[in-house]
Amino acid sequence: MADRILIKNGIVLTQDASLGELPRADVLVEDGRIAAVGRDLTADDARVIDADGDIVIPGFIDTHRHTWETSIRTSAPDYALITYFGSILDKFAPHYRPDDVYAGNLWGALECLNAGITTLVDWSHIINTPDHADAGIKGLQESEIRSVYAYGFGNTSLVDWWFGPDYQGSVLTSDGPDARRIRKQYFSSDDGLITMSLATRGPNFCKPEVVQHDWALADELGLNITVHVAMDRFGYTKMQVAGLRDMNLLRPNTTYIHASHLTPEEWALVRDSGGNVSFAPQIEVQMGHGWAPAVTALEYGVPIGLSSDVATTASADQFTQMHSILGSERGRKHQEAWDADLDGLQPSPGLITSRQVLEWATLGGAKVAGIEDRTGSITPGKQADLVIIDGKAVNVAPIIDPVGAVVCAADVSNVRTVMVAGNVVKDDFRLKASLDAPRRAVEASRDYLVSRFGDPDPGWLPVKALA
Ligand SMILES: [Zn+2]
Repeated sequence: MADRILIKNGIVLTQDASLGELPRADVLVEDGRIAAVGRDLTADDARVIDADGDIVIPGFIDTHRHTWETSIRTSAPDYALITYFGSILDKFAPHYRPDDVYAGNLWGALECLNAGITTLVDWSHIINTPDHADAGIKGLQESEIRSVYAYGFGNTSLVDWWFGPDYQGSVLTSDGPDARRIRKQYFSSDDGLITMSLATRGPNFCKPEVVQHDWALADELGLNITVHVAMDRFGYTKMQVAGLRDMNLLRPNTTYIHASHLTPEEWALVRDSGGNVSFAPQIEVQMGHGWAPAVTALEYGVPIGLSSDVATTASADQFTQMHSILGSERGRKHQEAWDADLDGLQPSPGLITSRQVLEWATLGGAKVAGIEDRTGSITPGKQADLVIIDGKAVNVAPIIDPVGAVVCAADVSNVRTVMVAGNVVKDDFRLKASLDAPRRAVEASRDYLVSRFGDPDPGWLPVKALA
């Protein structure tokens, strides 16, 4: 890595309130950090990247992805949530070997970098053995992405999930829950490129004593919690936040994923306890979780991040999430205006904007991931997690509103340059990492896992026939 990198003459969308949107500016990177942002910067011996006509943004942040599922990408394009539970979690997950977790994590993290995602919250509920955890971390490390390793639980059968005494860190070692070893072995510091959180099931996804145990473990290890709540029509997933309140388990910096059906009382509890939300809008509307109620979160002042959730069922880049929430949440407000028979010559009230959406995909995501102090905006002193988007591409030019260009026009093919902490991982449209070995590994993983899926016929074309 060059010690100094100077990005020249870009349209810089800093996401820093005091710097704003700069129509023509330079970004100086020194020792992995943003050293300066402004006009006509100079730096001796710096590597200069010409960004004339291109758009510079902070790296995207995916606040919740089950990266291990990358090995079985698009195996479930038509699933609803309930079919997903029965197939992905009950028929694939128990067969996962450590090598499958490694292959899925490495390939998924490389996919992120290619798409301009510089921070990935890897929600890893595939800890079937301690080796599975080591393998997942190894995949993240090799990719060189910034990540939050959200240590989960075993995924050996749904019956165990709901009814078993399957505590967090269910794999017990002599040291107690294996989460303790992981914390000590890999994450003794909270300042590394990879940090740790605890991915828990929460009320109505397991027994109350398991919930108590898991939250106590997070307290003991000093970890933030990330938990799915309030999704789909099955009633027993509702009132989980109220359930946590009843158990005295509301914690600051907890991420409530989906949150499609929180009650007003629960929204107030999330706000008052210092929680935040992660919306996976494409998955939520496609699989039936509900809406991604961003307007409601805004009303309560709850920080919002976006996430891709599962690659089994939708694409995992942040352009997809931005398109999806801009469409779905505005659609929800338009429908309310229709239902209220409001004057059609006025815009529907409460529409979200493209600027809000870009903020959620970057700075909002950093707040949700708990690392706003180091990433999420182009602010001097923060880590240089940066993306340059090609402003001359056939689907992007001509630019009038650069935020509109990023949120409404650009896609993964326009991600020109990506750096994580100043490390250029994608340079002029080419990933630095070699993709051959990781792709072979993830294809071998797919072959194995598909062979173990069992009946009934899921309707795929045979993998061998595709080779
Ligand atoms: Zn999820």
